[in-house]
Amino acid sequence: MLVRNYYHCAECNREWSDVSPVQCDEDCPHCGGRHMSPYKSEDAEKRDDE
Ligand SMILES: [Zn+2]
Repeated sequence: MLVRNYYHCAECNREWSDVSPVQCDEDCPHCGGRHMSPYKSEDAEKRDDE
């Protein structure tokens, strides 16, 4: 099971997403803000083969 987590940084207001086996907090890749919680998560196992 993989989920794509969408994050919004409260420090610098930028957004990013990442695929992870779990829904988890991440550090902001832009400013290094700590422990941002995903505001949205979706199934990342759908394949875009078409
Ligand atoms: Zn940030």
